[in-house]
Amino acid sequence: MKQKKLLYTGKAKSVYRTDAKGTLIVEFRDDITAFDGGKKDTLKNKGSYNAGVSAFFFSYLEKNGVNTHFLEMLDTNRMAVRELSMIPLEVIVRNFAAGSIVRNYPFKEGSPLKPPVIVIDYKDDSRHDPMLNDELIIALKLATPAELKKIKAIALRINTLLSGLLAKQGITLVDFKLEFGRQRSTIYLGDEISMDSMRLWDKKTGESLDKDVYRFNKGDVMATYNRVAARITKAQKPAAAGKKTPVPKKR
Ligand code: 5GP
Repeated sequence: MKQKKLLYTGKAKSVYRTDAKGTLIVEFRDDITAFDGGKKDTLKNKGSYNAGVSAFFFSYLEKNGVNTHFLEMLDTNRMAVRELSMIPLEVIVRNFAAGSIVRNYPFKEGSPLKPPVIVIDYKDDSRHDPMLNDELIIALKLATPAELKKIKAIALRINTLLSGLLAKQGITLVDFKLEFGRQRSTIYLGDEISMDSMRLWDKKTGESLDKDVYRFNKGDVMATYNRVAARITKAQKPAAAGKKTPVPKKR
């Protein structure tokens, strides 16, 4: 597969067309940002850790019946994906109170949220990703009521699958953000699931194992990403549920 024109550059990933119809390439770069781009750095190998963890989770979810855009890894940083028409929503699932929900509402940091809380933001940096509700999503025609119901059900299913997988590795899935897209009438999980988009705490020590280490200068960011990526992808093979694991291909 040949990489063609650059379609889009985000804060940490670039998306390219390919010579294969309906297939794009997502490149995970070494850039890291926080606070709406207010804090920025380039950290060697960061892209490969996030790409590896995302590929691992996407494969695991596919094997468990969740449609994702993931097709295969092309090398350490580049992933071939199904082309989607992206829905500009950030679907956040929270199992414990942390981050903005603690800043904005009277929750105590670390308190369990049972059942999990789904928060959906409008993905628009210029508006600082404002929180939506179902009526706004429908009034803005971002999703139909049936799609919204489906998106929430998929998000909760992903939460169950990933919380269980991470718990086996001694990691608490505190919260995470998902993005979805459509191909014809089917909803697929897109974007990434990585240390940049999840909040992970070590079950024993409570230590942050995610981008909070970068956001709040809690320690060596790349040492943490390296350790947690190895812990997630090596401690348990995703083979449990069946199909073959995609093999990286040369460019
Ligand atoms: P919070 O609302 O507490 O800032 O974020 C909740 C969860 O969603 C965290 O795991 C955070 O990393 C993720 N998240 C929220 N907004 C974004 C975003 O714009 N980009 C990424 N990559 N993750 C986000």
